[in-house]
Amino acid sequence: MDTAFDADLDGAVDAAPEALSRLAIRIIRSPKRRKTAAAKILPDCIEVRVPAGMKSDAEAEMVASLVARLERRRAAEASAVNLVERAAKLARRYGLQPPESVRWAEQNDRWASCTSARGTIRISTRLARVPSWVLDAVIIHELAHLTEPNHSPAFWELANRYPRQERASGFLEAMSTGHCDPCHTV
Ligand SMILES: [Zn+2]
Repeated sequence: MDTAFDADLDGAVDAAPEALSRLAIRIIRSPKRRKTAAAKILPDCIEVRVPAGMKSDAEAEMVASLVARLERRRAAEASAVNLVERAAKLARRYGLQPPESVRWAEQNDRWASCTSARGTIRISTRLARVPSWVLDAVIIHELAHLTEPNHSPAFWELANRYPRQERASGFLEAMSTGHCDPCHTV
């Protein structure tokens, strides 16, 4: 089994936060902005500032992409999952090195990543809505990397302490094909 969660996976996963109410979008066309847009979540809407004078389809694409990103982050934050607590618990249960920090991150090309020298782990916000056993498998995969940076046999010995590791890998593979979020081109 050589499928790594942090291997590059083509195709974005639509992790749209169905359970959250959609916020209204307010577009502000700013003559001060040149090429980039910025978005923030306000209490009643998502405010997106775009450069004034863009072509409407380019503007729509820019807005959609930013909004999708914010919505995913919002879903991750709203999710009941406390990554720090969860990673600490899993590290204890499976005898793995606990991380220095673990947090949600906007990552389009991978499910998770870690910096083993610093002991930090980032989990893609696209995983905010997967079943808990799949998220656990990804966390454990990264915890194992804190000790074994490469996908060596020693690494798999640690990662596979979690019995559903291989099933989770299949789940993520299935998720990464067939679902394509058009707002996100990697
Ligand atoms: Zn890996």
